Amino acid sequence: MNLHLYDSPSFRMACQQFDLVADFMEIPEAARDRLKMPKRSLSVAVPVRMDDGSTQVFMGYRVQHHLTLGPTKGGIRFHPDVTVGEVAALTMWMSWKCALVGLPYGGAKGGVACDPRALSNGELERLTRRYTQELIPVIGPQMDIPAPDVGTNEQVMAWIMDTYSLQMGHAVPGVVTGKPVLLGGSLGRREATGRGVAYLVSRAMDTMGMQAQGATAAIQGYGNVGSVAAVSMAKQGIKIIAISDAFGGIHNPNGIDLNKLDAHVSSTRSVVGFPDAEPITNEQLLITPCDILIPAALERQITEANAAKLQCRIIAEGANGPTTPEADAILAQRPEIFVIPDILCNSGGVIVSYFEWVQDLQSFFWSEGEVMDKLYRLLEQAYMQTLNLSRKKNISMRFAALSLGIKRVHDAKTLRGLYP
Ligand code: NAD
Repeated sequence: MNLHLYDSPSFRMACQQFDLVADFMEIPEAARDRLKMPKRSLSVAVPVRMDDGSTQVFMGYRVQHHLTLGPTKGGIRFHPDVTVGEVAALTMWMSWKCALVGLPYGGAKGGVACDPRALSNGELERLTRRYTQELIPVIGPQMDIPAPDVGTNEQVMAWIMDTYSLQMGHAVPGVVTGKPVLLGGSLGRREATGRGVAYLVSRAMDTMGMQAQGATAAIQGYGNVGSVAAVSMAKQGIKIIAISDAFGGIHNPNGIDLNKLDAHVSSTRSVVGFPDAEPITNEQLLITPCDILIPAALERQITEANAAKLQCRIIAEGANGPTTPEADAILAQRPEIFVIPDILCNSGGVIVSYFEWVQDLQSFFWSEGEVMDKLYRLLEQAYMQTLNLSRKKNISMRFAALSLGIKRVHDAKTLRGLYP
C-alpha cells in the first residue's frame, strides 16, 4: 500500500502501532489496509480577507477514517504545523478511541495550517466560516461532526454551527459539538476531557496503591485539557508542581497556585513569567521528578531520547499520540511506570461530545450531574476492560486499549461484509 498522501511522522507512528496490534491479534493481511487507510480526505484552499485588505490562502483538511459504525467524529485543529498526514494519523486514533469506549462513530479530524494567535478575531472568524463552507459537502449530523481541538474553542464551534445552519436554512446544532451551551452545547463538555483525565489518574492511583493526598503532577500544555485536568487533580489533593505551554514552563516543588496562575495566563496568554515559580523548559518538565506526568499538548513528546529519563510513576496521556513506539519499547522495560494510553485517557472529550450530539438530536438536555455520571460510567467500563485485558494477556495498557478498539472495528467490518 502506497502511503505517500499521508506520509508523515505521526501517520507512520499510527500505522506502526496498528501493525504491531494486528500481528498480535492475527488480523489477516487482506483486512489490514482496509482497517488502516482513511476512507476519504478533502484538502481545501481557504482564502481569507485579512484586516490589511490583502487576501491570504490557508490550507485546510478534513479526513474521515471509517464509516462502518455511523457518522465520523473528531476535532478541528488550528496550528501552523497541521498537515494532511498528521490529520490522518489523528483520525485513526479517533476510530480506535470511539470503538474502545463503545461510541457509534468512526474517527475523523480536520485542521487548518495557521497560527490562530497571529490572527485578529475578525480574521479568525472569516477563516473558520470559509473553511466550514468548503467542508459543507462532507459534514453534517449524520455524516461527520467536528469538535474543538488544539487552537479551536467554543466560539469557533459556534461559527461553524452558524455557517452550516445558514446554508441549510434552519438551525442545525448537531453538526458540531463543543459549542456554547446556549446554542445546544452540553453542560460539562468543556471540562470533559480534563475531568476524564483526572478520573482515570485516580483509578490508576488505586491500581498502583498510591494516595492522591500529597502526590505530585507535572503537566505539559495548559490549554483546555491541561488546565482542567490540573484543577480537577488539585481538588483530589494532588500537588501540581510543573506546568508548561508552547512558550516554556514553570516549576515550583511546593505546588503552583492555580488561581493565581490563571490570572497570570489571562493577562499574558502564557504560563511563562509566573512569579511564584522557577522557569523550566518543556524538555525539563518531562523529566521532572513527580508522581504523575501529563502530556497535554502535541504528538511525539515522549521519545527514545527521554523515555529512559522519566521520573514519574503514572503517565496520563491527555494529548493524542504523545508517546512514540520507540519510547513505548523503552517504557516496556520500566514496569514501575503505569501508562494510561491516549485513546483511553482523553476519551472523556469524545464521550461528552457524543452526549451533546444525542441531546441535540433529541432537543432534550441533561443536567451536568447526569452528564458526569454517564461519563464516569463509560470511563470506568473502558478502564476495567483495558486493565483486565492487559493483565490477562500480559500486554501494556496501550496494547490492550488498541486491541479492544481495533477488534471492534474489524468485527463490525466483517459483519457488514465487503460491497459489492
Ligand atoms: P489547546 O489549544 O486548548 O491547548 C494546547 C496547549 O498546548 C496550549 O497550552 C499550548 O500552548 C500548548 N502547546 C502547544 N505546543 C506546545 C509545545 N510544543 N510544547 C508544549 N506545549 C505546547 O488544546 P487542547 O484542546 O487542550 O488539546 C491538547 C491535546 O489534547 C491535543 O493533543 C488534543 O488533540 C488532545 N485532546 C483534546 C481534546 C479536547 O476536548 N479539547 C480531547 C481529546 C484530546
